[in-house]
Amino acid sequence: MSVLIKNGTIVTADSEFTGDIYVEGESIKAIGEELEMQADEVVDATGKYILPGGVDQHVHFSFTYKGSKVRGFETSNAAAVGGTTTLIEFVNQVQGKGLVESIDDYRKTDADGIAMVDYAFHSVMTDPRPEVIEEIPKLADAGYPTMKLFMAYKGMFFHADDDAILNALYKGKEAGITVMVHAENAEMIDVLSKKLIAEGKTAPYYHAVSRPPVVEAEATRRAIYLAELAEAPLYVVHVSAIEAIEEIKQAFGRGQAVYGETCSHYLVLDREDLAKPGFEGAKYVCSPALRTKEHRDALWQAVDRKWINAISSDHCGFDYENQKHMGAGPGKSFADIPNGAPSLQNRLNILWTYGVCEGRISRSRLVDLFATMPAKINGLEKKGQIEIGYDADLVIFNPNYEGIISVANNLEGVDYCPFEGFAQKGRPETVFLRGSKIVDNGKYVGTKGQGRFIPGKPYGYVYGG
Ligand SMILES: [Zn+2]
Repeated sequence: MSVLIKNGTIVTADSEFTGDIYVEGESIKAIGEELEMQADEVVDATGKYILPGGVDQHVHFSFTYKGSKVRGFETSNAAAVGGTTTLIEFVNQVQGKGLVESIDDYRKTDADGIAMVDYAFHSVMTDPRPEVIEEIPKLADAGYPTMKLFMAYKGMFFHADDDAILNALYKGKEAGITVMVHAENAEMIDVLSKKLIAEGKTAPYYHAVSRPPVVEAEATRRAIYLAELAEAPLYVVHVSAIEAIEEIKQAFGRGQAVYGETCSHYLVLDREDLAKPGFEGAKYVCSPALRTKEHRDALWQAVDRKWINAISSDHCGFDYENQKHMGAGPGKSFADIPNGAPSLQNRLNILWTYGVCEGRISRSRLVDLFATMPAKINGLEKKGQIEIGYDADLVIFNPNYEGIISVANNLEGVDYCPFEGFAQKGRPETVFLRGSKIVDNGKYVGTKGQGRFIPGKPYGYVYGG
């Protein structure tokens, strides 16, 4: 099977030009002007942009909160229609099991044969026994070269204390495992939450009050110091506050290998969304909490200036009616609401409409944040770039489309969309996954199980590699 895409504006992380792309089998074989190859299918992309398929490095398809599970890989076609062709799932270590075994088992039952886009995995260490710490380097051979630790959840089984983080940083270095942290101070959150609940302040809005920016700043700084001591690289996930950006920027300026991502919802949603009438604020309960305009402006500046190097979704598909309501009713509070929001499908739509169209980032900067850098960070060698020899994961983007974002045309399988009613400019019209068309005229046309596991290489981007 071969495809020739003609006359599109090809956008890469550092340039943009009009040209043709020739795809044979699963990869890009030629890029140039007026290519004359014969192809099984010729696509005219005049007036459209061609972007590399997105890499979403922060997705939750397996997360379970008090026995209640999010939507899984059976909804990964939502990524496809949103222009994302590779996603990376966080798999919590199962108590009593090893790190690699936990991912292998999940992968066999819940991803292989189901996924509709390509996929990779991050490990999440939840049980830092000495033998588990010893196992960390083995993640590299299995193709899972990244591991996250949660600093934010006092009393929960997946919470990590400083000793676990430090041991992981030391051990991870032996095999190029990048340690990632969810940086929020669990003790501060615990004290503030108990105080608020005792005062009867239990509504969803108080979720944000229980975790102000200083909570994120302190943990970010502490993680950076731990990484400095271990002389190991550090990746800070979902940065949301000015103070945390500053910590990362300063550490990087001192020559430390410290990097961070932010997520689409921190760029466009507001803390006041948590104050919506009734229980509706629960839809916006995620951690770190949504911030104010001041923080959003700082985040846009940070992603534009490369202080933050990726934008993910932190997609987490909990239903509003059945799952978010775990925090409603007598004796319940914001602390009982499952954290997270669905956003897999709209990452590119948000970045294009509110980033590129509003003049906050260039198209090339979007490509870098959306696809190129997340592929590099995670060692996905043939992803995230329009280059000869790379996987033919391509998005033909129509900039003239106009629509309204709504749950009504969403494939995430969740009963709400946090961006409901937002104006949308442009959309991914045609999407190819390794040379196969999986989206046509904005509609998903691929097949279940078409996605493939992509092993990551250790220390993908660290030290500029
Ligand atoms: Zn997350």
